[in-house]
Amino acid sequence: MRDFSNVKRVVVKIGSSTLTHPSGLLNIRCVEALVKVLADIKNSGRELVLVSSGAQAVGVGKLGLREKPQDMPGKQAVAAIGQCELMYIYDKLFSEYNHVTAQILLTREDVDNPVRKQNLQNTFHRLLEMNILPIVNENDSVATEEIEAGGSFGDNDTLSAVVSVLIEADLLILLSDIDGLYTDNPRTNPDAQLIPCVERLTPEIEAMASGAGSARGTGGMVTKIRAAQLAVSHGAEMLILNGANPNDLYRLLDGEEVGTWFMAPHND
Ligand code: GLU
Repeated sequence: MRDFSNVKRVVVKIGSSTLTHPSGLLNIRCVEALVKVLADIKNSGRELVLVSSGAQAVGVGKLGLREKPQDMPGKQAVAAIGQCELMYIYDKLFSEYNHVTAQILLTREDVDNPVRKQNLQNTFHRLLEMNILPIVNENDSVATEEIEAGGSFGDNDTLSAVVSVLIEADLLILLSDIDGLYTDNPRTNPDAQLIPCVERLTPEIEAMASGAGSARGTGGMVTKIRAAQLAVSHGAEMLILNGANPNDLYRLLDGEEVGTWFMAPHND
């Protein structure tokens, strides 16, 4: 039985392909609609942390480049440009609903080092106590491994699961460009079925998630399954929803069956 009505602390991750058009320019309709729903979720008394990708994609769009730079300093430079723009947009839109945002940029070292980890937890807790909305991203401009496949966090699905564990979130919601986990790739197989609930992460489930992400994001389903492994093993429920339908967040919290729910073990 789905009942997320009592969840208090929620982490929402937004991917680059939800935030931007293929050109890298901001998808204003989508971002505005999402910010409105997220602001309302905060108004309902829940604590919210946003993990947002898009620094590199927005940097590419802002500079009018046709694609992401291939070299590491180039990627770091566009991330620095885009991160600034991204926070400007979020700050502006959340301000319209009277919410204050704060930026937290992280590297794997910040979580692995016990002193830095404690500092980070203190900052998150204080921000949440102050009713501020922390917006988190990988610190792509200082940690090269962050934007290399296979290195450190490597992707924001993993980062959002790490943040969920760090702040002991009740619920992690990954907003994707697809409705959830399917039995096969629905873009190539019309018979693929949406899986509403994953009770246990079996090798069969992992096999269904194969395949890379889009050109603008770094994820895909593989990183989402990895995020689920981490989040549910620490007691957080995880959901994959389609970021193109922001009202699905309301439907989810009202107990409707949307997306794919990865159950935390205590629901067994
Ligand atoms: N940190 C990257 C960015 O903001 C995105 C990583 C990801 O999409 O997973 O551009």
